[in-house]
Amino acid sequence: MKPIYLDYAATTPIDERVLTEMLPWLRNNFGNPASSSHAYGWEAEEAVEKARAQVAATIGAQPRDVVWTSGATEANNLALKGAAQAYAQRGKHILTPVTEHKAVLDTCQHLETLGFEVEYLPVQADGLLSIDTLAAHIRPDTILVSVMLVNNEIGVIQDIPAIGALCQQHQIVFHVDAAQAVGKLPIDVEAMQVDLLSMSAHKAYGPKGIGALYVRRRPRVQLTAQIHGGGHERGLRSGTLPTHQIVGMGKAFELANSLRDDEVARIRELADMLRSALLALPGIYVNGSLTQRVPHNLNLSFDGIEGEALMLDLDQLALSSGSACSSASLAPSYVLKALGRSDQQAHSSLRISIGRFTTLAELEQAIAAIKHSVQRLRDLSPFWPTSTSEHTPTGHHDAAQP
Ligand SMILES: *Cc1c(COP(=O)(O)O)cnc(C)c1O
Repeated sequence: MKPIYLDYAATTPIDERVLTEMLPWLRNNFGNPASSSHAYGWEAEEAVEKARAQVAATIGAQPRDVVWTSGATEANNLALKGAAQAYAQRGKHILTPVTEHKAVLDTCQHLETLGFEVEYLPVQADGLLSIDTLAAHIRPDTILVSVMLVNNEIGVIQDIPAIGALCQQHQIVFHVDAAQAVGKLPIDVEAMQVDLLSMSAHKAYGPKGIGALYVRRRPRVQLTAQIHGGGHERGLRSGTLPTHQIVGMGKAFELANSLRDDEVARIRELADMLRSALLALPGIYVNGSLTQRVPHNLNLSFDGIEGEALMLDLDQLALSSGSACSSASLAPSYVLKALGRSDQQAHSSLRISIGRFTTLAELEQAIAAIKHSVQRLRDLSPFWPTSTSEHTPTGHHDAAQP
């Protein structure tokens, strides 16, 4: 049997209603939306424009403000590189918190090699960027600020309206990575005073490989295209549009918007139950703000236990640990480190993320499994019950394994 899926922040399963909408566009309706001389093209273009309106409505924008991309990674690249290049004559200073997604941080690092100066701002112990910290770093040559709405590792919600107002006051282009926010929070690019906003379908029950960038037109935000050829998407992003993916994203966002209030209420109830059951154990604490967060994400640190060992022991659950498992070094999470967690605390963390298809029965099973594993691993751990000292990197794998 496959493990219980508790990794909705990594990706979500596709909703059946989304898949149903997509299938005709993979079968008979195969036209190129850019073919303006026949009915195959016209019907595809109509489907693309319907989806553009669905995505725009989800964020309080106009359809023509939406530019299709391959996902939030590409949207972040287009926003940051495109705005940096377009506004370079005004200044080269960029601000972003250290806890952003790698798609923002790595793009910023690339911009540094091109002569831009990026300052990576610290966050508070609760994971939130203080407005005072941001304000103190703004300079006359600051051209761009990028802050995510919901953090992918710890689920905290940044104060986007306050940051938007500050950027507006200083005439700075404001980009928001909202990949983790769609369907969890209401989003309004006008009320939030956002100029550029990145979205992804597969974090909201749509297909992988499609996303979008909102680009403000009033007042107009300048962007330099990053992908050339054909002049699609008003010249901002060339390439034949994948009609089936776009239709899927439109349907997924429409559903996310219409289901949001009921779905969030249900998930909040499940999350409260999960959190209180796990926090009843000793030596477990939540990473990130307890109030400014989405209920879908619970990032926990466990005293005296390796997150990796706990994850391996919990093979009936599909979740993520606080270590970057993809890297050979098992580096501790840079997000948890930014909250002031020690290497050991960052290594001893798990991200449980739930969503639309999570059931009470699944969570009850998960709670029982986690309680059992925590007890078992602590019985074996030399770091429990006294776990104040940092252990050596070489020992950290053996620490909790028999
Ligand atoms: C998943 C994610 C991305 C990357 O989105 P893709 O569509 O997979 O490229 C970017 N930012 C955040 C916050 C994410 O959670």
